[in-house]
Amino acid sequence: MSQHVATIPSTGRRIANWGAILWRERRFCGDKDYAKHLRRIHWTEPASWFYSLTLRRQGRPYAAEVEAALRTACEAHQGIRYYWQPRLDRLDRAKQPLTSFGKLIAHLQDDHWLERFIARHVLLYRGGEAVDHLRVLVLTGSPADQALAIWLILSIGEETTARLAPVADHILCSDCFVRCHPLEIDVPEEGLVTYYGCRACRQSVNFQPWPAGGVVAVLDRIVPPESVHTNNQIRVNWRVRRRLFDFDQVEIIQAMDEDVERFAVQVGNDTQESRNGRYAKMVCRVASNCHLSPNTMRILADTFGEVYKEC
Ligand SMILES: [Zn+2]
Repeated sequence: MSQHVATIPSTGRRIANWGAILWRERRFCGDKDYAKHLRRIHWTEPASWFYSLTLRRQGRPYAAEVEAALRTACEAHQGIRYYWQPRLDRLDRAKQPLTSFGKLIAHLQDDHWLERFIARHVLLYRGGEAVDHLRVLVLTGSPADQALAIWLILSIGEETTARLAPVADHILCSDCFVRCHPLEIDVPEEGLVTYYGCRACRQSVNFQPWPAGGVVAVLDRIVPPESVHTNNQIRVNWRVRRRLFDFDQVEIIQAMDEDVERFAVQVGNDTQESRNGRYAKMVCRVASNCHLSPNTMRILADTFGEVYKEC
């Protein structure tokens, strides 16, 4: 696990038309008890007939809109804050421990409306990681479960795209050192749904900025930590990690021929389109006191754009 985990905060967006969003949620959520608790929000809002005329064709809002609307409503009205803020605080606390997906999916059917509400919004928060689990529910659940799971997958697609698409080229997963990427999942009756997450592990919560000095793949027998963060570089020791990640330069400090050859084979066999074109332009530096055979140096020259040995 990286020492420099940077959690990308939710967009924290404010919803001007929160009353309309929450009316649609109440009207289309299919959860009677929860709808009853949302109804309290409309004490001070326009009459339901007005919303009914203007909004009924819009269907259920995405989950992130609902959450943002509830938070905005709490800021706007003391009465709503008194009722909903403790419940939103509970939701925020529930996001922190990594509850298993089995439990979260089970809690979607909990007897208490607040547990169901929290499960839906924690699944939204878990984002890309939750998508495959929700797809199983689409394939195996009752018609009501299917509709809920599809709504959550679409909500994750909408939320991760809004939050991560504008910065995806500039961030990398804190666990895998792999870029954030648009990913797709095939959802029955919906087709391909796009969402954003780590290209390797699919999570969409923990990222860090791509450093100005780049990500360096280091081969070093001596340094034990898997990764070192300097002021402007992330240096990841491939000899500890043993699998590929996204890097833009290579440094061989201390390594045996067989280590270097194994690394070069992984790079040569890399099928990731977004990275295999980059190796031919990449610089590989070999430390002066690292003695590699002429054959290994040739393999490096065939793999990377520019290989040079320090004097
Ligand atoms: Zn990852």
